[in-house]
Amino acid sequence: MAHIYLASPHMSAEGYEQQYVKEAFDTNWIAPLGKNVNEFEKEFSAYVGAHDGAALSAGTAAIHMALKAAGIKKGDIVFCQDLTFSATANPIIYEDAVPVFIDSDYETWNMSPEALERAFEKYPNVKAVLPVHLYGLPANMDRIMEICKAHHVPVIEDAAESLGTIYHGQKTGTFGDYGCFSFNGNKIITTSGGGMLVCNLPEEKAKERVAKVRFWSTQAREKARHYEHKEIGYNYRMSNIVAGIGRGQLKVIDERIAQKRHIFAYYQEHLGDLEGISFMPMHENERPNCWLSVIELSDDCPVKPLDVMVALEQGDIESRPVWKPMHLQPVFAGCDYIDNGEVGKYLFEHGVCLPSDTKMTDADLERICDIIRGLWK
Ligand SMILES: *Cc1c(COP(=O)(O)O)cnc(C)c1O
Repeated sequence: MAHIYLASPHMSAEGYEQQYVKEAFDTNWIAPLGKNVNEFEKEFSAYVGAHDGAALSAGTAAIHMALKAAGIKKGDIVFCQDLTFSATANPIIYEDAVPVFIDSDYETWNMSPEALERAFEKYPNVKAVLPVHLYGLPANMDRIMEICKAHHVPVIEDAAESLGTIYHGQKTGTFGDYGCFSFNGNKIITTSGGGMLVCNLPEEKAKERVAKVRFWSTQAREKARHYEHKEIGYNYRMSNIVAGIGRGQLKVIDERIAQKRHIFAYYQEHLGDLEGISFMPMHENERPNCWLSVIELSDDCPVKPLDVMVALEQGDIESRPVWKPMHLQPVFAGCDYIDNGEVGKYLFEHGVCLPSDTKMTDADLERICDIIRGLWK
């Protein structure tokens, strides 16, 4: 039986990606910029509902550029969600700024607004707030935006995992001043590697900031015949070939979301009755993209997360633990952490990310559920 991945690249059956890449070859627009990059930025921004976007080499680069665009400098404090992938927090260090990690709440698995408020009391001079929409679940953006607006502090959304997630009628990544997306190989759509920064400030300001990000991302070369530099630049721009893959993938994003949501519903239906099992949280007025389907096994559950992962592994099926919180990572030892009852640590220790590959058939899902159900017998 074939190996089942947690999440792997899934190109369109129609071959859209290859058509755009072929067009780039035919016109010799291989590098660096060109029509695919411009169109991908426009099509992507229109899809999420942002004024403008800059296509970059990675989601991590998008977060880095968002911090720069928000004016983050050496020594500035940035509130960063604690339960996340390290790529959320690393760019804070690239800028010599200081992350303060904010615990999640159990209702959303994302940044706790209550802990955020306490963080503002402790660090009133904070310069930016970085919430994440983990596994495609939206953070409590109503409360987070309300708190941050009251303090006049910019919000950078890490929407790397939540492309297409709708929260209260609006796509994630468009609530904060900046939204950051990833097209890494395991994300819901992929360009083999890439990212996008969108800006949601008023239109003119947004276009200006995105233009600045494009400037920094192409080595900060000033307008002159010779190479003139007044600022430090980066080589962060997406190539025209890669953008062609992105344009093709964007055509099937809604199909991918439908399949991801089907996978989650399948697990709920076929595993929901097992003792001690529960599922990642969903609320009214939200449509998560369900990038990964995550289960939680309570303390008195007869089966432990490791049992599930090992049993699946023996069937050549990939799964993994929930992200390990940043305040428990050796590399961030010494950073401050605003606790909300160690919710992030609890989810890390009790969660399992189940296979969520959109190429799986219902027969694959049945096999996975059979293996898991076997552990309860
Ligand atoms: C994937 C991911 C990133 C980084 O994106 P890359 O494109 O891999 O650089 C950042 N944050 C989160 C939460 C992610 O899952």
